[in-house]
Amino acid sequence: MKIVVATHNEGKLPEIRNIIEAELGQAAQHIELVSAGSMNLPDPVETGVTFEQNALLKARDVARRTGLPALADDSGLIVDVLGAAPGILSARWSGVHGDDEANIDLLLAQIADIPDDKRGARFNCAAALVVPKHCGEERANGTTPKAEETVKLGEMRGVVIREPRGENGFGYDPIFVPDNQPGRRNANGEKLTSAEMTAEEKNAISHRHKAFVALAPEIKELIG
Ligand code: IMP
Repeated sequence: MKIVVATHNEGKLPEIRNIIEAELGQAAQHIELVSAGSMNLPDPVETGVTFEQNALLKARDVARRTGLPALADDSGLIVDVLGAAPGILSARWSGVHGDDEANIDLLLAQIADIPDDKRGARFNCAAALVVPKHCGEERANGTTPKAEETVKLGEMRGVVIREPRGENGFGYDPIFVPDNQPGRRNANGEKLTSAEMTAEEKNAISHRHKAFVALAPEIKELIG
């Protein structure tokens, strides 16, 4: 069964495929993931005010345009002392969409006076599965799945440090030290930022990973 992932970032597909394979085992072979980008679908405007709303909005748009089941995710960083911010505005916090360095600089300046023990934060991710009403995809037994919408949340807690560290990952990874650490430190004996972790180390604890793991039973149900 073909499932469209509502993204233009091809890098998201192997990450999601790995989770599906780990959670569904043999059954995962019945799933073919394709990206909205490879189908030349447009990105919808993200008008939602929560991660859940934006993930659903993206999955609904792709399901409506293709008639196929669709997966989408939406995520961001929430800093305790900033209320819900940067939150759904994480990607464009400094005003320019996707300028990771400017976003980090602005955030660090905003919380510069906040003491180390009050710099708690969390990454949240909402993962959504939308099965359209007239889903053309057949299960192995010849039936078609019923229409449904499901959204699940994942969270990764940690603290925001004062200087970026690490070359891996993206976004706010260089200034975020997850509470849940792998069993090693960096060369200076410090806890790792998520940008100092390998992709495997980060995936094992990430908000995105947890959200898609939580969605796996619905994906399994989808293929019957
Ligand atoms: P998206 O919804 O996954 O595209 O994430 C929106 C924005 O949130 C990104 O552009 C990043 O600024 C931030 N973000 C989301 N997840 C992560 C992460 O795992 N590490 C660092 N930044 C992230």
